[in-house]
Amino acid sequence: MRPLYVAVVGSGPSGFYAAAALLKQREPAIHVDVLERLPTPWGLVRFGVAPDHPKIKSVSAVFDKTAAHERFRFFGNIELGRDVEAAELAARYDAVVYALGAPADKRLGVPGEHLAGSVAAGDLVGWYNGHPDHTGVPVAEYLTARRAVVIGNGNVALDIARMLAMPAQELRATDIADHAIPVLERSSITEVVVVGRRGPLQAAFTPAELRELGALDGVDVRVDPADLEAVSDADAEAAGSTVALNIAALREFARREPAPSARRTITLRFCSSPVELRGDDRVRSIVLERNALHTGEDGRVLAEPTGDREELAAGLVIRAVGYRGIPCPGLPFDERRGVIPHVDGRIEGRRHEYVSGWIKRGPSGIIGTNKKCAGDTVKTLLADLASAELPARDPDHHRHLAEWIRSRRPGLVTYDQWQVVDAHERALGEPAGRPRVKLCSIPELLRVAHSRAGQPTTGRKTT
Ligand SMILES: Cc1cc2nc3c(=O)[nH]c(=O)nc-3n(C[C@H](O)[C@H](O)[C@H](O)COP(=O)(O)OP(=O)(O)OC[C@H]3O[C@@H](n4cnc5c(N)ncnc54)[C@H](O)[C@@H]3O)c2cc1C
Repeated sequence: MRPLYVAVVGSGPSGFYAAAALLKQREPAIHVDVLERLPTPWGLVRFGVAPDHPKIKSVSAVFDKTAAHERFRFFGNIELGRDVEAAELAARYDAVVYALGAPADKRLGVPGEHLAGSVAAGDLVGWYNGHPDHTGVPVAEYLTARRAVVIGNGNVALDIARMLAMPAQELRATDIADHAIPVLERSSITEVVVVGRRGPLQAAFTPAELRELGALDGVDVRVDPADLEAVSDADAEAAGSTVALNIAALREFARREPAPSARRTITLRFCSSPVELRGDDRVRSIVLERNALHTGEDGRVLAEPTGDREELAAGLVIRAVGYRGIPCPGLPFDERRGVIPHVDGRIEGRRHEYVSGWIKRGPSGIIGTNKKCAGDTVKTLLADLASAELPARDPDHHRHLAEWIRSRRPGLVTYDQWQVVDAHERALGEPAGRPRVKLCSIPELLRVAHSRAGQPTTGRKTT
């Protein structure tokens, strides 16, 4: 049987795990081309995971191993929908896996959300992680106020609270974007309030991230004991071990006396929703409304507004209430869920086009969740191709594919060239004991990728 040619679009965890699952296949051998809009691979492993969590980023070594496979090629700096169309890929490859992630944010849907100082989590996280699309967010202007409010009760909300509250000099040892360090050092923020719509039992934090807040140097964590009064040990146990550990951590915070030496406070507020952001040219305050919880017919705990409102002064309001996929020209899209509709990973109504990761399931799950998700999609793909009548391919098809891709986007970045950037960034970080100093602009990334040292040295993965 002839080899198969599969394109994977997107090089975050779900794209890399899909590539790995495809490359495992021996008969027929599968050639995998990964197309990525940025000059850098790894998606949110580079641009989402917090700078002070370097161990989590070490999963990139797994991706490097996949990339070293002789049937793997990486084409960075080429965007689906701008440089190539889905139909063109479908015509040239035996199958295409879309692993585009979910880069947009969910809105709060309240008045004043458009004001300066009202920021999406993705913008702030992208700014401190050096994502080229987000370097221009004017965060310095928003950190002149004393209070920041983070809306959301998941780990992204905690990452943001930690980044805003922790001593900025500790970030000097991380791979945080260089432009973020002086801005955070000059921050006037003294309190970060994290607001959850429902109660402590419903919060989506994980215990390690929650406890981490309590270990921050010079930071008090405050929880109103009243928020925990209605939570019994039996309720916490019944909700599972993660929730039980969260409740234990929250109880410990609620018992703490404020430390006289603390410079900043993180306040965790529950059962509250934003109803309005107020300000003139920018956010000056947020109005929160207290919710009462009750159990719906389907057993879900629902938050009902009580009319009890409070206005808090704040200069920065971050919505960390979830991400959404964005529609891609030529592909179906479920507007309500913000995903590409599919059955078992196969795009609805399409032949040999598939999805993996957050654009398939929606924005939930950790990096590892995408391994199983991509594996399931690849199973569907392999079963489909095994029974399909495939077109004959020219013996030089592999080379022709690369020529075609290059013709659509001069200035591509191969994996070898990305590794030159990677080595360059790591070398820049070394004298200061940092994992790397990120290059944060596309021209800079391309300059290094295409520098003499970045020219391909082997025939492998080059074209
Ligand atoms: C702020 C944040 C912090 C997180 N921290 C952790 C953590 O600490 N630990 C953990 O386990 N999980 C964490 N996660 C979750 C984890 O990052 C996700 O589960 C995972 O990244 C989803 O993988 P993905 O491949 O579907 O999407 P992504 O990682 O977003 O990758 C999508 C890729 O597709 C590319 N792309 C998009 N559109 C196009 C296009 N049109 N053409 C070509 N390429 C395109 C993007 O540039 C990107 O590289 C975090 C998530 C966020 C948002």
